[in-house]
Order: sequence, then C-alpha cells, then structure tokens
Amino acid sequence: VTGDSRADAASAAQTAPAASQGTLFIVAAPSGAGKSTLVNALLERDPGISLSISHTTRPPRPGEQYGRHYFFVDRERFEREIAEGVFLEHAEVHGNLYGTSRRVVEGLLAEGRDVLLEIDWQGARQVRAVMPDCVSVFILPPSRAELERRLRGRGADAPEVIERRLRNSREEIAHAQEFDYIIVNDRFEDALADLQAIVRAVRLRTALQWRRHQALIAELLAP
Ligand code: GDP
Ligand code: ADP
Ligand code: 5GP
Repeated sequence: VTGDSRADAASAAQTAPAASQGTLFIVAAPSGAGKSTLVNALLERDPGISLSISHTTRPPRPGEQYGRHYFFVDRERFEREIAEGVFLEHAEVHGNLYGTSRRVVEGLLAEGRDVLLEIDWQGARQVRAVMPDCVSVFILPPSRAELERRLRGRGADAPEVIERRLRNSREEIAHAQEFDYIIVNDRFEDALADLQAIVRAVRLRTALQWRRHQALIAELLAP
C-alpha cells in the first residue's frame, strides 16, 4: 500500500458531508391500483421510512382519522395555506385539493429519514422540479377490469365517485413514463417485493454508501 491511498482516504473523509439526507420516495397510481395497501405493507416492514400525511379537502371515508390518513381541512383554509407557501406541492385530484406539507418533509429528510409521498402525477412533477434526487414509482393495475373490481370491492366510495375515479385513471396512467420505476400490482406479494427491491437498491447507491461507510472506506484505504 502506498502513501497515496492514505492521502485519498484522508481527503475522502474531509470532503464527505457529516450527515446524510434521507431519500424522498414518490408513489403514484390510478385510484384503486393498490397504492395505499402496498405502501402500508412497505412501512410495516421498513421502519426507516416515514409516510408524509397529506392535507386534503376530500371528506373522510368511514374509518379515516384526522392526522392518520389525512389532515382533512376545508377549501378556504387549504387555499389560504397555498398562498402562505405551506405546501411543497399541491394539486386538484378527482375534484378535491391535496397537498404535501413542506416543513414536515424537509424536517424528516434533514434528520436523515427516508420519506414517502403518496401523491398524483401533477404533484410528482412539482416535487421532481424542486427535488431532482427523489425516486418515483408508478403502480399499474393488472387490467382495467381488475382496477374497477378493486375500486368497487374496496367499498369506500359512492358509485358516482368510483365512476369519476375510473374515468380519471387514463389521465393518471398516461403520465406513468415520467416515473423512474413501474410496478404492476397483480400478485400482491410480488408487487410488494418489487417495491422493497427499489427501496433497497436506492439505499445502496454509491453517493449514499460512500458517506455512510466513511470509516470503513478509510480503514480499507489505510496503508
Ligand atoms: P385513493 O388514494 O385513490 O384511495 O384516494 P384518495 O382520495 O386518498 O387520493 C386520491 C388521489 O389524490 C390519489 O391519486 C393520491 O395519490 C392523490 N393525493 C393524495 N395526497 C396527495 C397530495 O398530498 N398531493 C397530491 N398532489 N396528490 C395527492
Ligand atoms: P389505492 O390506494 O391505489 O387507491 P388501495 O390500496 O385502496 O388502492 O387498494 C384498492 C383495493 O384493492 C383495496 O381493497 C385493496 O385491498 C385491493 N388490492 C390491493 N392490491 C391488491 C392485489 N394485488 N390483489 C388484489 N387486491 C388488491
Ligand atoms: P380487504 O379490504 O377486505 O382487506 O381486502 C379487499 C381485497 O383486497 C381482498 O379481496 C383481497 O383480494 C385484496 N387484498 C387486500 N390485501 C391483500 C393482500 O395483502 N394480498 C392480496 N393478494 N390481496 C389483498
């Protein structure tokens, strides 16, 4: 081992930032594709990821709790908060406003936590513009018939709401190519494994690993 590698190790340790920012994940899908079911299963298995709870003007479904599923707010308050710059992104989806709190997401990322956003394609586009290092995933249903079956089977929405969501699914899916990854949610366990594989691969990226394993790299490069 030459003296050069000691100098390399020393300079690697000096130039690397002290703490690592977390990664921002975006998951989008047409309503009923299984996005929330997949994300909840991922979160149960991966305590390193925090879910960002969105604000919405949509009325709560039976069983949905304020602060757990969404922060349910009225349109007046939502519009005031848009003007105040509260949201990292916001969009109108199926006739309701949805938005992500900037403060919460930036705080968690700064603490080094990975954060996951369940948002639509319009929001994903806004987030990519300001956080180009985010990783975005689009969930497809295995067929149109199955999407409709899942939406109806969920039993959460009124028939006219389901019709509207089915109509809007084409527009959402038309933007799938803007995402880094696409998962087809046919067999649930396979789709979950795909999602976990993406998270795992992202955490192994060199830019992150180099910072994380500074001490190891210094030791391996030492004479
Ligand atoms: P579901 O996700 O289809 O069960 O129904 P929701 O009413 O909970 O959400 C409807 C749509 O709004 C979905 O496409 C979500 O991805 C999207 N959405 C939820 N939260 C946000 C948000 O904070 N920002 C944006 N832009 N879209 C959101
Ligand atoms: P989204 O959040 O995309 O609107 P949900 O997660 O609420 O969708 O899923 C819609 C319905 O489909 C739920 O009843 C859920 O249990 C069901 N579901 C999700 N994934 C699968 C799958 N792979 N196979 C069968 N049903 C599924
Ligand atoms: P429920 O809302 O009753 O839990 O689930 C509704 C439907 O979603 C079920 O009929 C089932 O097909 C599907 N589903 C929910 N969770 C899972 C899961 O973990 N794996 C699979 N394969 N399907 C699921």
